[in-house]
Amino acid sequence: MTGVGSTEPARSAGAGFAGAGAGNRISLDEARELWLNADDEELRSLAQAARARFHEPDRATYMVMRIINYTNVCVAQCDYCAFYVLPNQEGGYVLSREDVFAKIDGLLEVGGDLVAFNGGFNPKLPLEFYCDLFAAVRERYGERVEFYALTIAEFVYLADRAGLSHAEAAARLRDAGVHWVTGGGSEILTEDFRKRHAKFKYTVREYFEAQRAIVEAGMRTTATMVIGFDETLEERLEHLQRTRDFQDETGGLFSFLCWTYKPYGTAFGGREISPQEYWRHIALSRIFLDNVAHVRTSVLTQNEEAFRALDYGADDFDLPIEDEVTQKAGATIELDLEGLLEIPRRLGYRVEYRRAERPAAVIA
Ligand code: SF4
Repeated sequence: MTGVGSTEPARSAGAGFAGAGAGNRISLDEARELWLNADDEELRSLAQAARARFHEPDRATYMVMRIINYTNVCVAQCDYCAFYVLPNQEGGYVLSREDVFAKIDGLLEVGGDLVAFNGGFNPKLPLEFYCDLFAAVRERYGERVEFYALTIAEFVYLADRAGLSHAEAAARLRDAGVHWVTGGGSEILTEDFRKRHAKFKYTVREYFEAQRAIVEAGMRTTATMVIGFDETLEERLEHLQRTRDFQDETGGLFSFLCWTYKPYGTAFGGREISPQEYWRHIALSRIFLDNVAHVRTSVLTQNEEAFRALDYGADDFDLPIEDEVTQKAGATIELDLEGLLEIPRRLGYRVEYRRAERPAAVIA
């Protein structure tokens, strides 16, 4: 069970939040009030107004992508993870370069062009391993494929292992042809949450320092969030506040993606939150994050329920064809992509494919 409590509003909020979707910045207190007291219809309508500041109301964009989990060996030991094995434990693997190329070729065959590399903190794989891999992918595929090279969490680990500052490590990745290091691995960005669930991963301060270095090196990044552990409402709000502050300071966040915790096979266990709670959180995020253009809904963890989040402020989504990390924890992946796209169409959206953008600083 999440620590957030009931998603049923304590009372109807009436017209008290009318300005929230129209571009007026809301405070943490107002966000809390919205969560606790606005009903679904009110949240949805405010989120739609906030979405309309950036996007045509009936248009949604998507990408077809594959997450390539290059190694499952990890020393971080997050208690919500069903994917990792410790070094020297049975079942550990590192994908060969040929395996990686075969997975990318498979993605191109189904019409996708976005790869996200994501794996464990494997002490046997130094930063150079990744730089060589990313340079090889860029050389082989050029602009036919875009890739999210690492998450911020992996980046922090690799820079630390290499004895490099975040700025130095970021420069190495950029010089290897990397355009994107995403905000993945953030889950809930409060120090308390990190201590409860992932104490070996990074501190919140390190996370944002590293993300700032990625932006300053001229690469692009994104914000992510995962809900449905045992986080409190205050922790969710703190995460959103930190995200908005970071965007105010750097302008570097292309998008905000929220997905939901899958508890199966994990040490922490628990239950999944309802789609309704997810939609409400997407709406609250859209309203609160008034400086982030794209709010993305998670087909990977919410399947067909993800598309209803388009009505609650989301404007963009991925159709993933593989992600071992979430699949190990209970995510199911539908490969009938045309069938999936019919769902947002039935909801009244024009769906259009989009390519990952190349950062201007890297093009120049
Ligand atoms: S979530 Fe990532 S960092 Fe944490 S244990 Fe799993 S693979 Fe390692």
